[in-house]
Amino acid sequence: MSNSIEKLILKEYPGARTGEEVTATYLSYLEDKYAADLNKMLFATSICSDDINVSTDFRRVLNRPFTMGGLGGLPYTGFTGMVAYGHHIPDGGDAFIFYGPHIGVTDDGELGKMLRPGQKNFSNSCGALVLALERIKREDDVYIPINDEFDYQQVLLERTVMPFKQRILESSNPIKEITEVTYENIHRRIHFLVEKAKDEFHCDRVFLLGGVILNTSPGMKDYVEIRNFEMLDVKNITPYSTESILEHDAFVNM
Ligand SMILES: [Zn+2]
Repeated sequence: MSNSIEKLILKEYPGARTGEEVTATYLSYLEDKYAADLNKMLFATSICSDDINVSTDFRRVLNRPFTMGGLGGLPYTGFTGMVAYGHHIPDGGDAFIFYGPHIGVTDDGELGKMLRPGQKNFSNSCGALVLALERIKREDDVYIPINDEFDYQQVLLERTVMPFKQRILESSNPIKEITEVTYENIHRRIHFLVEKAKDEFHCDRVFLLGGVILNTSPGMKDYVEIRNFEMLDVKNITPYSTESILEHDAFVNM
């Protein structure tokens, strides 16, 4: 059974490995190749709040994750969260951030759905992305995500996928594509926030590990397709700079 799910997963995500394998591989890289002391490493995550994702992360090995993520996995704790995280790194330690969206896979290989523990009916995964997709598909009217204090994570998630609406809807598998777009959005935002908070890191190195988490049925292993592993040297991070609108010809000629 688990062999056939692996085949189905590898067809869609050729680089996918089991969560256990990914955890073991990267923790030994960190220890052996980078001589990182895992006891002094402060782990952070920017993954979806969904309870299903607990099984795939590094929490089993590394303590105290700083939780940046929320619906869909965007780092909602923002600049303040990144500064706080940077300040909390143990003396002589390193930062390690694991980030990415998640997507369910049924036993037949259908993406965007999954069987959850204790349930016999399928549910959406990532539910927040499936909802966003349903809303941007609306044909009766143009959907505009409006700020809502009681649903701001969903609204922000929808806003970040909106610019890619055409790419998502024209793709052969929109739920897979909206997940790709969200990976790219999370990746960009994590970089942006680390750059913006670079002077606040109480360490020399920030390790980033990004990928797409693949949730399978209960009793089967979850998978992760790693998309990025890098070490940022805090001293050499280029400071984030904004460009002034005054530099644009369109402004000069207004
Ligand atoms: Zn989710």
